[in-house]
Formats: sequence, C-alpha cells, structure tokens
Amino acid sequence: MPKPEPKYVLDLSKLTRDHVLSTYVGKDGACCCGCSGEHMYVEATRALAGEERGYDVDDDEVNEEGFDDCLEVIRDNAEDAEVNEDHVAVRLGGEVHIAYLHPDFVKGWVGVPAKSCQVFEHPMAGVA
Ligand SMILES: [Zn+2]
Repeated sequence: MPKPEPKYVLDLSKLTRDHVLSTYVGKDGACCCGCSGEHMYVEATRALAGEERGYDVDDDEVNEEGFDDCLEVIRDNAEDAEVNEDHVAVRLGGEVHIAYLHPDFVKGWVGVPAKSCQVFEHPMAGVA
C-alpha cells in the first residue's frame, strides 16, 4: 500500500499543549515507568490521559509548570529531538524529556520524517 500523502507537518519548535497529552522528565537511559523521573499531566487533559493509560491521573501527577517546562525544552532543542510513533524525546544534560502526543494527533500517523527530526508528517489537518 502506498504511503498516504501527508497533509500536515508539525515543526517541533512550535510544539504546544494541543499536541501533547503527557510529558516525562527523568534520568536519561533509565527506566521510564516513573521510578527514575516524573510523568506530568495538566488539568485540561487529565481525564483523557487517565482514560488512555487505563487508570486515573492522581492530583500529585498534575504539574502544569513542569509540563510546560518539558515542552519548552523540546521546542528549544527541536533539532535534536528523536521522533517516534507516539512521542518525541530530547536528551539533554543527563535527562530525557519526552512528550507523549495527543491521541487525536497520532491518529493517522504516516511515519517519521525522511530528512529531519525537526518536523514530522501527519495527515491530520487543522492541528497547529
Ligand atoms: Zn521504572
């Protein structure tokens, strides 16, 4: 089957909360379950995030400032970001910063960019 033509390209230097359901900051190279770092959520998408992972997001997992800080690190280091199917990651100073993409945004995923990790191609229009 031919690869569908992407209709949308996201520049990771413009990553916002609209694209992301949860973030993680922790020790680079270590387990990402939360034992070596912190998974962070925001109130606006807390319910959906709980649904997606299968159990509710606790009060102490809501971290608006930490969430935004993580996105800022990824934006500022977009050129070095690793782009994966459902998340993007930046490794910096011994820490890994991960943004797990919103499911609406991941839907219809067509793959990682051919040339650069700065952008990834996505067939869903209208998310910016
Ligand atoms: Zn762990």
